[in-house]
Amino acid sequence: MMYSLEQLIAAITRKKLKINLDLVRLAYEFAAAAHAGQKRLSGEDYIQHSLATAITLAELGLDEATIIAGLLHDVPEDTTHTTEEIQKEFGEEVACLVSGITKLGKIKYRGMERYTENLRKMFIAMAQDVRVIFIKFADRIHNLQTLGSLPPEKQYRVALESLEIYAAIANRLGMGELKGRLEDLSFPYVYPKEYAWTKRLMEEKLPKRQAVIEKAAKEIRKELAQAGFPNANVHGRVKHLWSLFKKLNRKDYNGNIDAVYDVVALRVITERNNIGDCYAILGAIHSHWHPLPGRIKDYIAAPKPNGYQSLHTTVIGPEEAIVEIQIRTPEMHAEAELGIAAHFIYEELGKRNATAKELPQKLQWLEGLLRWQKEAQEHPERFLKHLKMDFFEDRIFVFSPQGDVVDLPEDATPIDFAYAIHTDLGNSCVGATANDKHIPLSHKLKSGDVVEITTDRHRKYPSEDWLKFVRTNMARHKIRECLKKEKKSL
Ligand code: MN
Repeated sequence: MMYSLEQLIAAITRKKLKINLDLVRLAYEFAAAAHAGQKRLSGEDYIQHSLATAITLAELGLDEATIIAGLLHDVPEDTTHTTEEIQKEFGEEVACLVSGITKLGKIKYRGMERYTENLRKMFIAMAQDVRVIFIKFADRIHNLQTLGSLPPEKQYRVALESLEIYAAIANRLGMGELKGRLEDLSFPYVYPKEYAWTKRLMEEKLPKRQAVIEKAAKEIRKELAQAGFPNANVHGRVKHLWSLFKKLNRKDYNGNIDAVYDVVALRVITERNNIGDCYAILGAIHSHWHPLPGRIKDYIAAPKPNGYQSLHTTVIGPEEAIVEIQIRTPEMHAEAELGIAAHFIYEELGKRNATAKELPQKLQWLEGLLRWQKEAQEHPERFLKHLKMDFFEDRIFVFSPQGDVVDLPEDATPIDFAYAIHTDLGNSCVGATANDKHIPLSHKLKSGDVVEITTDRHRKYPSEDWLKFVRTNMARHKIRECLKKEKKSL
């Protein structure tokens, strides 16, 4: 694949982005001159990589500074030009993004220490400006696309890191589209046999499934036009291979692709951003085709922990074929595909001006991570183990009686909740209620619980027993700290 400046400009124009094209041309010329004579291992000119990165960012619909920083992202690291020069030519915002990427450094995924260090750097960069991670994702996608020209051992290392770390972060940020791409590009290098097996199964099924979905889409369009939704966008979507592989591996599927109903699913996107339309469309579909019992999922009323919203149903469609249908508004669609990035793109989704420095509500858990940096330096292995637990597992959302939301990992306890609010609340905790019922302190909380902590003002130190059941790094850390102080004071 050869990339050109024209392609980048075409992508910007297609997305109707409000971007100064002269500045984009200038940045391209600056990067091309800086990287002149440099080649990638694939033999291509280095600027191809810069262009590919910027094109991915433009296709995501991101802003001017991010796209320009995408073009310049390897300049300070790989050429004689400095971040100061970039600041002089393109301003502070672009220079900050480029320096964020440069700090993340080159691929270093060797052993536990490097791995932790890498993660830690990514979190710090993200907390400073989350757009740095978008550039890193776009950079990684092109590196994966050209991975074939690296030595095999390096291929495996880069792909594994992408699968385990990058895709997991993309997922946590709700960026479904990028997560799928990162996973599918890494899959063949990390698990070649499994990849070949999944691909073959998919190729066998795909033509027939696509024909069924085409037919179903036609019928649904007609049905929805009669129901008053002539402009709903109805289309088929093919499941990503890695996600299919993971499903096939689950006990309830046991490798049987015929039991996977969403190999190709039907997606309906409403014309307006109106939740009522989603339910009305679900009703219209159910009056036309019979739904399978127990397969209707309302992720609008109860979103997934990463914020995903849609209605899912599975029906007996044309020719008795089983069809999974996903219904959502354009806003929900943008959120599902782009996640946190959607807030930088669609004004109606968030305060666009809050972009750079202010962390959106959704990212506040990141600040918690940063507070544990110290621990990361002292005990990298312990940090990593807990980090993986805190970061990559599904989250629950628990409320205080005042309506504050606390974001916790699954199976978190009232003690985790108390320490997440305040150290003193944790230390003086003697009991708890969830939804006005008394619960033990080791009780596993559920999303939506309203939790109240009972305290005793004479109690100043936590109980060592709590370490046996707390789930968050934060609670464990604070309990240990406090017990150390207690021992000193005795
Ligand atoms: Mn790069």
